[in-house]
Amino acid sequence: MIDDKEKNKKIEKELDNICEECKYIDESVTENLILLGYKLCNSCKTSKTLFPL
Ligand SMILES: [Zn+2]
Repeated sequence: MIDDKEKNKKIEKELDNICEECKYIDESVTENLILLGYKLCNSCKTSKTLFPL
């Protein structure tokens, strides 16, 4: 049970909607994290998709 609580805490932190690229808070960040595995907002996702590093 303690482990579950810690796990939830970690997930909550991951789902804070803060883009790792521009540090903006956007609800698309969580969507992209779940769908693509990247913690990025839609605008950063677009630039990464168009201009991959
Ligand atoms: Zn961004």
